[in-house]
Parts: sequence; structure tokens; C-alpha cells
Amino acid sequence: MLTTAEALATLLSAASPIDGTESIATLEALNRVLSADVISPLDVPPMHTSAMDGYAIRVADLVDFAAAGNKRLPVSQRIPAGHAPEPLKPGTAARIFTGATVPPGADAIVMQEQTEATGDQVTILHSPQPGEWITAQGADIRSGSVILPAGTRLTPQALGLAASVGCATLAVRRRVKVAVFFTGDELTMPGEPLEPGAIYNSNRFTLRGLLDKLGCDVSDYGIVADKLDATRATLREAAVAHDLILTCGGVSVGEEDHVKPAVEAEGRLSMWQIAMKPGKPLAFGAVRRGAALEEASASETFFIGLPGNPVSSFATFLLFVRPFILSLAGVQTVAPRMLSLRADFTQSKADRRNEFLRARINPAGGLDLFPNQSSAVLTSTVWGDGLIDNPPNHAISAGETVRFIPFSELLN
Ligand code: AMP
Ligand code: MG
Repeated sequence: MLTTAEALATLLSAASPIDGTESIATLEALNRVLSADVISPLDVPPMHTSAMDGYAIRVADLVDFAAAGNKRLPVSQRIPAGHAPEPLKPGTAARIFTGATVPPGADAIVMQEQTEATGDQVTILHSPQPGEWITAQGADIRSGSVILPAGTRLTPQALGLAASVGCATLAVRRRVKVAVFFTGDELTMPGEPLEPGAIYNSNRFTLRGLLDKLGCDVSDYGIVADKLDATRATLREAAVAHDLILTCGGVSVGEEDHVKPAVEAEGRLSMWQIAMKPGKPLAFGAVRRGAALEEASASETFFIGLPGNPVSSFATFLLFVRPFILSLAGVQTVAPRMLSLRADFTQSKADRRNEFLRARINPAGGLDLFPNQSSAVLTSTVWGDGLIDNPPNHAISAGETVRFIPFSELLN
């Protein structure tokens, strides 16, 4: 049996970023992965700006402030945001608004709450430090600096940062193309009547949602009949225009199923037993792409076969397929961040395998455990906030600190 770390390392060592980049509008680039560094062509802010509504002054003009406790100055100009100011006349104040350019010569802003305006004069009631309420040119970003490195997956705030330096388009990698299909004669689509012995194909919905969240370009072949010819034909077709073929079901030991022989016939396959729970079986390999079997130079499409149990396929997707796809997409950091949280439950039985327990953060900040950890019980994945990564042979006592991977880290 492989450890989860060994399985992940093998997968990631095979996953190099896909070829193909495109330039797209920054407004359309959410969740896409940068293929090149974004370098700022300018300082942000591009000029000294006021951080307050108030008055721009020269600190040196307030020398006699200390004695009087205030200082009356004539107001020599009014500067709304978006307008270029005149230099500040010595011995005067400029009315200024948040985001407006600080006039040359001014070195502080006094917020309007610390002033009294009378006609075209203002009484300053506060003696500011030089630089007070001024956001200096380049305080956020310096011209020429890398603001977003290649391999960044674009969040809303990253798009905002790119836009703040004027980037209307961004160079991104193309989407990862994933073909997915499902095996099992018991599978029925919602909307169809459920015959005796049948179950609904819930994994199709879970996996499609997971792939969509990762921004994949998905071809869904649905339920493929459990026949060798049909499975081989689907694999051949899917291999042509995809980076990864993902299947669900039929990778358990002793399974009466055609996925394994079909992938072996169309490419190569390793059947893994991973010391984890839920999960355990996982198949990793490749399907030859469009060329004769003998042709050594034929390129390949990756293949990953997930177990059919709903919680197993969900967990193995999150722990293995997600980082694999992100690596294909060129993402730099693919490991989810973990939290250290207190277990507010006891699990006295240690398992030989690395458990990924569905748990929920309670109002006291500790973790509660879903009572049924069976890999067939999908309810646990909706109830939970994430997975406790419990090492092999480890019982958990209440009060102990455990490693928790929140779904927010795994489902983005
Ligand atoms: P398998 O990995 O094919 O041995 O399936 C393990 C269990 O998962 C069986 O109980 C299957 O009925 C169930 N299963 C397989 N595929 C799906 C699916 N697409 N949706 C829901 N359950 C499934
Ligand atoms: Mg099956």
C-alpha cells in the first residue's frame, strides 16, 4: 500500500503544466492561471493622494500653532478627486477630498473634522505630522515590480490589483480539458425511475461541480455501458482532445468491470492501494492519443480512475485530482493550508490507514465529528466543514489538537 504522501508525490511528479496560453480580458479572468508575471508599468497611487476629506496644508505654516492652539488660513483652491491641483500658495490651505491629488508644496492633510470653515477661511484645530493622511505615490505598488507572479490563480482581489496598474488583458494558460465518465450498471440519472437494485448517479453531480470549481473545460460522457468495446471506444475518443480522462467506479480489487482492461489496452495503468480512509483504490495511468498502439512517439492523455463510493470519490478528488489538475494548469502552490484545531470528541479506535474524517467547526472553535464516517454516507460531506487528516494508527482523545483541512481550502 502507498501512503497518501507517496501517491500525491507520484501524481505531481507526472503533472507538468499544459502548453497553450491566451490573452483574455481582465474582467473575464477570474480563477484563470497567469502564464506570465504581471509587472506594473506605473506607481500606485500614481501621485500623492489625500486619504481624507479636509485641507491640504504646509506643516511649516503652522509654526505659531502651539501658542494659539489653532491657526486660521485662507483657502486658496478647491481640489476634487480627478483634478490636477495648482501648487499650494505659501500660507494658505487647499480644500481637498479623498483620492484627490495633493498639491505640490503641501505636506499634510488635516481632516475636516479637525477644522472650522468660515467663508473663504479655515481654522485648523490640529497640528499634523508631515505626511499625515497622505498616501504617498507608489505606496501600494512601485513601477517595474512584479505584482502577480506566473502561476497565480486569479482571485477577485488579484483582478483588482491587475486593474489598478491598468492591465486590460492578462496572459493566462488555457483551461485544463477534462473528460469524465461513470461506470456501473446500477447507475440511474435523476429524472429517471429507479429500478430495483439501482441507485442515482450522485457522483456525476459532485464531480462535475468540483471540476467546474477548478475552472476545467469539461466533456461529460455520462454513464458508459459496462462493456469492453464501449469503454475502449470512449477512452479513444476522449484521449484525442483532453488533458485528463477521469472515471468513477470500478477500480476496487476484484471488480467485474471493464475500465481496467480498457485502459490497459488503450494505454497503461497502475492500480494503487492507498492507505487512506475513505478512498483506498485509485487508478493512475495514460491513454494513447490518436495514434497506433505501437507508435512509441504517440502522445498520451492522463487517466485517473476514482473509486465509486460517493465519499471516497469526493475525498480522493480533493486530495489527489485537485492538486494534479492545478499542477497541469500551471498553479504554483497546490497544497491546501491546514488548521490546528481542538477535537471536541473522542475516537478511541485507531485505524491502520490515514483517515480523512468529516468534521464541523463548532461555535466554541473546536471540531465535532460526523457520527457516521462510512464512505457511502454522502450526508457527512454536506454536514462537515472539512476533513481531519488523522495519521495512521492514531486514536483521538477529546481536547487534543488535530490537523484540519477546511473545505474552503479544497473547494476553490
Ligand atoms: P465501485 O467503485 O464501482 O466498486 O463502487 C463502489 C460503490 O459506489 C458501489 O456501492 C456503487 O454503487 C457506488 N457508486 C459507484 N458509482 C457511483 C456513482 N456514480 N454515484 C453514486 N454511487 C456510485
Ligand atoms: Mg461499480
